[in-house]
Amino acid sequence: MTDTNCQPTNLLGLDLDGLVALCQELGEKRFRATQLFRWIHQRGEADFAQMTDLAKSLRSKLAGVAEVTAPPVLSEHESRDGTIKWLFDMGGGNAIETVYIPESDRGTLCISSQAGCAVGCRFCSTGHQGFSRNLSSAEIVAQLWYAEHFLRRRSGRAERVISNVVMMGMGEPLQNYRQLVPSLRIMLDDHAYGLSRRRVTVSTSGVVPLIDRLAQDCPVALAVSLHAPDDALRDHLVPLNRKHPIDELLAACTAYLAHAPRDFLTFEYCMLDGVNDRPEQARALVQLVRRHEPAGLRCKFNLIPFNPFPASGLQRSSDAAIGAFARILSNAGLVTTVRKTRGDDIDAACGQLVGEVQDRTHAGQRMAERRAAMQHHRGGAARRAPKIRMIP
Ligand code: SF4
Repeated sequence: MTDTNCQPTNLLGLDLDGLVALCQELGEKRFRATQLFRWIHQRGEADFAQMTDLAKSLRSKLAGVAEVTAPPVLSEHESRDGTIKWLFDMGGGNAIETVYIPESDRGTLCISSQAGCAVGCRFCSTGHQGFSRNLSSAEIVAQLWYAEHFLRRRSGRAERVISNVVMMGMGEPLQNYRQLVPSLRIMLDDHAYGLSRRRVTVSTSGVVPLIDRLAQDCPVALAVSLHAPDDALRDHLVPLNRKHPIDELLAACTAYLAHAPRDFLTFEYCMLDGVNDRPEQARALVQLVRRHEPAGLRCKFNLIPFNPFPASGLQRSSDAAIGAFARILSNAGLVTTVRKTRGDDIDAACGQLVGEVQDRTHAGQRMAERRAAMQHHRGGAARRAPKIRMIP
């Protein structure tokens, strides 16, 4: 199975059904697909010659039509708290970020789904860079494959290191739906990573029709970027809201819960100083949830201290404002957490490293011009000089 340009198929992007189809095309039995799947994802093997329980004839057939390969790593940053951020080269001047966040009871990997993003949220560094392209399922899964086996090798552990995946890196995952679903199936498959549906989270800015489809095709945990208690403000912060306003979004969220692996969903709320962090806005949020509770909405809130970047013209809410906001939600009975800031010493906002690299190499001229125009428009400060260790 090769693509129309006779490029080898990257097996990282094939779920088990896809591998079965490949094996049948090569005249092999179905169980060979399971063996191959395990070699690739459970053992991290990329060299067909090393897959010793596969017949030699199959190994040589595979070598002619397929490959197992992750994109090149441009840089790797490790924080004092153990957070690791990789920058992968996606070709054509594009790069994406993947972040590993270790905690005492879990290891979480934050994965990108697109190079850039078309949604254009005001507080997001990736959104300010514009959209370049969708990632293939191989490029999405490659982030998990690379990180998992890198971490296992480094720690000398044979068992799984990454227990949770969040599709919260660069891109709107539901706007890359066709590549997202097989990627999720690979993450969940017991012959591959065997992650629990409860521990794989898709985070969306609110692509309502595809929330409905995900409920049917591959229901995993859902997080929704809310960021505002009313349409007027959300139209401004998350432009997709003009197409799918808050009531429509919350109705889709409520319907999703009938299929979801958890009985609640998470609302992400980025805390922006003087924009969405006032006590009356917390109270409006409580009212919003109350309006949808009779239909079955169950949710928790995750307040995210904004990670400032110069082109945004926005500032992080004070700790006092975040605390007061959280108390209003909690006192109203809404489970509320404040996200810990991790890896602060290795970079700033999600997507910012990519912007720095593109500035440095001048590969992303279009994005740089867009940022410059925004800075001019908002009177923003000049960007910091990049501080990135490049991997040759
Ligand atoms: S927050 Fe997410 S959806 Fe919004 S611009 Fe950034 S990557 Fe895109």
